[in-house]
Amino acid sequence: MQYFSTRGDGPVSLDEALQKGIADDGGLFLPQQLPFFEAGDFDDADSIPQVAERLLRPFFVGSGLEDALEEILAETFSFPIPSTPLPAAGRALLLLELYHGPTAAFKDVGAGFLAACLSRLESDEDSPLTILVATSGDTGGAVAAAFDARPGMRVVVLFPDGRVSDRQAHQLCCWSDNVVSLKVQGSFDDCQALVKAAMADPQLAAAHRFSSANSINIGRLLPQSTYYAESSLRHYRRTGNKPGFIIPTGNLGNAFACIMAREMGLPIGPVILATNANRTIADYFETLQWLPRASLQTLASAMDVGDPSNMERLRKLVGEADVLRERLGVLSVSDAEIETAIRQDYSEFGFATCPHTATATHTWRHLDDEVASAHDWILVGTAHPAKFETIVEPIIGEIVPLPPELAEILARPAHSITIEADLKSLATAIGGA
Ligand SMILES: *Cc1c(COP(=O)(O)O)cnc(C)c1O
Repeated sequence: MQYFSTRGDGPVSLDEALQKGIADDGGLFLPQQLPFFEAGDFDDADSIPQVAERLLRPFFVGSGLEDALEEILAETFSFPIPSTPLPAAGRALLLLELYHGPTAAFKDVGAGFLAACLSRLESDEDSPLTILVATSGDTGGAVAAAFDARPGMRVVVLFPDGRVSDRQAHQLCCWSDNVVSLKVQGSFDDCQALVKAAMADPQLAAAHRFSSANSINIGRLLPQSTYYAESSLRHYRRTGNKPGFIIPTGNLGNAFACIMAREMGLPIGPVILATNANRTIADYFETLQWLPRASLQTLASAMDVGDPSNMERLRKLVGEADVLRERLGVLSVSDAEIETAIRQDYSEFGFATCPHTATATHTWRHLDDEVASAHDWILVGTAHPAKFETIVEPIIGEIVPLPPELAEILARPAHSITIEADLKSLATAIGGA
């Protein structure tokens, strides 16, 4: 399989697309064509790694990683991804629990897969690859966990001091020596600007081999399609119904993977995007004008995106707003609605949801009756509520018990370096200035 940039560059191999992250012309990589499957093609595949193997095999044809695919998938899916039935009147309702990985958020899947691929592509290089990640919370932890203690790979995590929760900060700072955690005296935007500046700096780029691991890498998207495939197949086999999905959405990476799975023939019904108060996608569907803007801070902070980069992929794959809005729903959910949803989830479902997941439960409760009753629904749970305990616990008035994977991480010693938000401080911290 070959890969092309959304802006035309290419073709490149999968291996090159994984290593580059972004195309030379600034576009995002997409496979030349998507394979098409029938539900029956997966008849004897009933675990996630087995479904993943079948689904992803065509994307690896001709890649140096082809023979390692099974191993890569076993490494990636080392934790369960259950779809749990929820109590609801009427049509079936399930929660796809994507938060049982090492850092308790869905980004563990994409980061784990990317790390498993890159470490194999890197094995014959002698200077380490340095992955730079600017993070407002979840991404940095998932990437650090995925690359932790991998030989030949180094991760530099930049996060804004004082603007991530204590638990998130700990998750960014508790890894082996190959993960350097930098507390930046500035905002998330400063962290992102620093990563860009470092990669563009000739002296630093000569001293390090830089790469990035943000959600525009095709290696983050491919494995995400597999949990949509597996959960929809499981439901379809059991009931004969194609479930709809409601997906908490920020940069559109997770939802894009679901749409890609549907395009490949998986038994998926309607797909509805639940965003927070950042209305860029909702306004696009309404006005047909694509107007990216600065992001607003909300309770669902990992979805605070005003310019969702994967929209470029979606427009290329499916079409512009007039086509997109026929195939996708979107609802923008306010902070007040998120709070209400967390409270309601706790009383109706008997467990807490994180603020991101709550955008999906709110959206489900506010579907048109006709739409709601025409389909079974799978709500996508993107993070464990214990990661956002300072928001969730006051709302439900209870302590959220720590899942074992988070408890394990929080018990580790943490270490970090504090830097000013300038390139010189970054260079001093990572060496090679
Ligand atoms: C990153 C993230 C999202 C948003 O996912 P996108 O792929 O950026 O749309 C939602 N919820 C949580 C918990 C996240 O970490």
